[in-house]
Amino acid sequence: MGEHLSDAFVFFGATGDLAYKQIFPALQALARRGHFDLPFICVARSGWNLERLKERLRESLERHGGVHEEAYAGLCSRLQYVDGDYLDAATYERLCAALGDCQRPLYYLAIPPSMFATVVEGIAKMGCIRDSRVVVEKPFGRSLASALELNGILRSAFADHAIFRIDHFLGKEPVQNIYYTRFANSILEPLWNRNYIASVQITMAEDFGMEGRGKFYEEAGAIRDVLQNHLLEVVAYLAMDASTGDDPEAIREESARLLRAIKPLDPAHVVRGQFRGYRDESGVAPDSPVETFVAVQLYIDTWRWSGVPFYIRAGKCLPVTSTTVTVAFKRPPRETFGEIVPAFSNHLRFRLSPDVLIGLGIRVKVPGERRVGEDVELVVAQSEGDAMAPYERLLGDAMRGDASLFASQSTVEAQWRIVDPILGSVAPLYFYQQGSWGPAEADQVIARDGIWYNPKPVESQR
Ligand code: NDP
Repeated sequence: MGEHLSDAFVFFGATGDLAYKQIFPALQALARRGHFDLPFICVARSGWNLERLKERLRESLERHGGVHEEAYAGLCSRLQYVDGDYLDAATYERLCAALGDCQRPLYYLAIPPSMFATVVEGIAKMGCIRDSRVVVEKPFGRSLASALELNGILRSAFADHAIFRIDHFLGKEPVQNIYYTRFANSILEPLWNRNYIASVQITMAEDFGMEGRGKFYEEAGAIRDVLQNHLLEVVAYLAMDASTGDDPEAIREESARLLRAIKPLDPAHVVRGQFRGYRDESGVAPDSPVETFVAVQLYIDTWRWSGVPFYIRAGKCLPVTSTTVTVAFKRPPRETFGEIVPAFSNHLRFRLSPDVLIGLGIRVKVPGERRVGEDVELVVAQSEGDAMAPYERLLGDAMRGDASLFASQSTVEAQWRIVDPILGSVAPLYFYQQGSWGPAEADQVIARDGIWYNPKPVESQR
């Protein structure tokens, strides 16, 4: 596997949106902890110079968490800027020169997906691959066929263990905590199957719209943007078996095995929505068929999960921003106390963002003569959010060669196989008001098992 430390960080796309919002702050945080002191080479075509790039770096840090002067100065002292179009071979010549004696660069591709192949071929042709690694931003392909093609291009230049397919959800502490909580305790596993679990719901709600990224979103839509990757990763952690042995690959293999057991989605169990006003956004076609909301029902074809529906919903311009998982246990076999126990009384809830909570739903008796109950939730754990930003965690891991929190090719292929049948305009598109919970038709997706659990805005008490 080669767990050596990379000896240079080459950043394609350093003038872009992701760099500004996430990557520069993550690199500063790594530098503060003494985990990033490599030559830092940015490659873009803006016609900037080093001074302009340093200004941009400072602006980014000011806007996202603050400047730590010592770490900022350290980053600047190691910063180089290579200006040039990725389509131009001379750009890679300049990059190779900037790399000098570095033998183990980490190439980070935070660029439009249409440029992945061009850049990989460019660095391969110029002989700057060396003993390097490559981190590829999401989305990894646009379908199963294109993901296979992209992997072929990457594999023509890099060994599989040198390819890091990023999905920042995997770097989120509360997402990791799903798998951890399940298998660090023995009380859950006996209940974690079709005998006790009635259904599972996952909602990823965002209370904002395009924020200037309409052109990007037109190429993606909710299915490609969050369902194929983030939300199916969450399903994997919720439903997979525990990995065995000490091999770091074991978790990835187990999660891919689970994803392979998910039945490809049936358009009859999918509702797509688009918020009113989306078509007026900059970069969006006036007759755009792209979904900003999706609700699906999926099934996992294993002994553990046979017949248990997983309901997943994701959308923009919903009433709150939160990602929440609710695992609903079956109702008691009979109504012992002459009352109808609600379907969600017994549940385990993982609130993954913005604040983090694990809650266990229990029904208890209301004090008094009558035997009637009320639902309460035992808060098992609660915090304000991620201790370490996902990109800080993941880029640090990639520089060390630890791929355990990156998607493997078999994971990516399994994910695309699940969503392939619903890509495009296969399922009908319904409009919804901004600030609502999506189109009313989404209620039909879950009707057999109840209603959607709508997360509240913030629950952290600190
Ligand atoms: P942007 O469009 O903001 O940035 C693209 C970057 O690529 C810019 O630095 C641009 O340089 C450079 N670039 C594009 N084409 C060329 C070219 N031919 N030659 C040289 N440079 C080029 O994209 P984002 O930062 O938003 O996204 C980057 C990647 O990250 C994408 O794969 C996206 O899917 C992924 N991603 C983005 C997220 C986000 O929040 N932004 C979230 C998750 C993933 P220049 O500015 O000079 O044109």
